[in-house]
Amino acid sequence: QSLWAVHEMPANEAAVEGATAAALLSIERLGARFGTFDVLSDIDLRIGRGETVALVGESGSGKSTLGRVIAGLKAPSAGRALFDGAALPPKLRQRPLELLRRIQIIYQSADTALNPRQTVRAIVGRPLTLYQGLRGAAREKRLIELLRMVELDESHAERLPGQLSGGQKQRVAIARALAAGPELIICDEITSALDKVVQADVLRMMIGLKERLGVSYLFITHDIEVVRAIADRVVVMQHGRIVEQGEKDRVFAPPHEPYTERLLASVP
Ligand code: ADP
Ligand code: MG
Repeated sequence: QSLWAVHEMPANEAAVEGATAAALLSIERLGARFGTFDVLSDIDLRIGRGETVALVGESGSGKSTLGRVIAGLKAPSAGRALFDGAALPPKLRQRPLELLRRIQIIYQSADTALNPRQTVRAIVGRPLTLYQGLRGAAREKRLIELLRMVELDESHAERLPGQLSGGQKQRVAIARALAAGPELIICDEITSALDKVVQADVLRMMIGLKERLGVSYLFITHDIEVVRAIADRVVVMQHGRIVEQGEKDRVFAPPHEPYTERLLASVP
């Protein structure tokens, strides 16, 4: 409970901290391989507290792999990462529970991410017990608060994923990530599989949540409109390398990398 309270800070306080404090995540010269294929090379990336970094790039450029490396789901082949100033162990099983709590990942499809046999209560309740030590009435209270944060309510707690719409399933996946009490949430194309209206709702909700909770996002997307709506800073990837990064307004102002140019040109 107390851990969670720390994360609920006013928006402007979070923003000030993001601007001044040392980076929450700092990656240096990171590389990753699939066999002999260098999927990521020389990645230098910093994410401040409360900052939203949009990671953009064409399909196959390595965005999801970078997210997975940060989340501990794939081991890097080179480089190092610091989280809140301390070395981030590359493999999930080397990370203590406290560290697992602090970095959460949400995927494009809640269909594969949610256990179809578990109720929403079980799905969102598990991290509340595991990471926050909540049980019984305290857990139920927090569960309802979380469902409301993602614009669901107690009536959804009894349902199975199969009894929810696509947008509702994604909201459950978001609630599960929030239940851990994270400081960094990796969002991998979390609105891409939703229809346009639901996309806009979920995006608006994610913006509200980061302002309310002071969390940092690594927001992976290929949608420039999403970048405009949510990003503080933009990182452009191509062929496993970062080809451009900077403040959103600067990246969107000319001159651009040729790839950024094409990305911008694709927007009507
Ligand atoms: P993005 O998310 O930007 O579309 P990915 O990180 O998914 O890119 O993939 C980057 C590259 O790595 C692609 O060329 C993809 O084919 C390759 N790749 C992804 N996963 C694997 C894997 N498990 N084994 C081998 N190659 C992979
Ligand atoms: Mg991807």
